[in-house]
Amino acid sequence: MSSFDFGPMPDKEGFFGQYGGQIIPPELKAIMDEINTAYEEIRQTPDFQEELQMLLTDFVGRPSPIYFARRLSDKIGGARIFLKREDLNHTGAHKINHCLGEALLAKFMGKTKVIAETGAGQHGVALATACALVGIPCEIHMGQVDIEKEHPNVTKMKILGCTLIPVTRGTATLKDAVDSAFEAYLKDPVNYIYAIGSVVGPHPFPKIVRDFQSVIGREARQQFMEKEGKLPDYITACVGGGSNAMGLFTEFLNDESVTIVGVEPSGKGLDTPYHSATMTKGTQGEIHGFKCYVLQDSNGEPLPVHSIASGLDYPGVGPQHCHLKDLDRVQYDVASDQECLDAFMMLSRVEGIIPALESAHAVAWAIRKAATLGPDQTILVNLSGRGYKDADYVSEKLGL
Ligand SMILES: *Cc1c(COP(=O)(O)O)cnc(C)c1O
Repeated sequence: MSSFDFGPMPDKEGFFGQYGGQIIPPELKAIMDEINTAYEEIRQTPDFQEELQMLLTDFVGRPSPIYFARRLSDKIGGARIFLKREDLNHTGAHKINHCLGEALLAKFMGKTKVIAETGAGQHGVALATACALVGIPCEIHMGQVDIEKEHPNVTKMKILGCTLIPVTRGTATLKDAVDSAFEAYLKDPVNYIYAIGSVVGPHPFPKIVRDFQSVIGREARQQFMEKEGKLPDYITACVGGGSNAMGLFTEFLNDESVTIVGVEPSGKGLDTPYHSATMTKGTQGEIHGFKCYVLQDSNGEPLPVHSIASGLDYPGVGPQHCHLKDLDRVQYDVASDQECLDAFMMLSRVEGIIPALESAHAVAWAIRKAATLGPDQTILVNLSGRGYKDADYVSEKLGL
């Protein structure tokens, strides 16, 4: 046995070290524990495993390839950069991996409705897709402000048949949508199930979402070995709540030779309020029913956050990331709005791959790092999604 051993997490109470847990009322705790028990049972059954595997293969299009970005690597002239192509999944990002798992879990648990919040609409579209496929009604709460900003996603959710609940209270954005969705869920938690959008929230959600996303790393580790005959020297992913990153990292945690790096947005600068670098600038606190690093004011209220990538602007972060940072197993670094835009354009023009602005943060880090390394070194980047959703914004911003 190696002393370099990072499994299995979380503990029985849902803690990853000091982080995670269930900071929720006792009646809700009983409901969460029930979901946990059902999940642990159902995930073991051959029926569930077979159906999930079949859908990941035939519906999502897995395994997603690993692509050696030769022209990008040559241009930088350092380490060789590889991309795990989650952008090629049906719906265009990694979120479908856990949404499919959650919808299927709801079906196996006999739930009659799936309820969720969405911010920019990415989670909403992925979940509405999975619910249409599985044949279970889906209700998505979205801030009125976001509804007006994210029209294409709103339209898709409607087409996919979900019930969209506009939330007008408070600032009419993500936080209010979470509150509204949770209230709706609590009206009948026996028949409804909440489907969270990342590795956040009270136990067991961070574990469930991580497990469903970890298919990324299982595939990637094997694919990389087959291609290169060894493990990558670095693996990296962007971190908002942290689901695509945990999806890639989990399978590599016990590989001592692999340096693991999560990349958060430094936005307009870490010395300004306009960033979302929870790991670098946050302090221990709690948000949405769990303990983690939080960007917060002196009263423990979450601060407003900013990123050019709307999928990354969350003032908390998944509890397992916090623990892995404290253990020094994963490093957390940042990329700015400008670096993200540069990486977005470079990958588009040198490789013909338009990355999501979220994913472009990890690409930006890889570009920066590769220049300091030699061609015998390798970096594997999780390309969490495609950037068609960002094309209009970027072209306007850059005056294309
Ligand atoms: C939502 C999203 C993210 C951020 O979410 P994580 O839970 O941190 O992975 C990253 N990339 C894309 C493409 C997304 O849609």
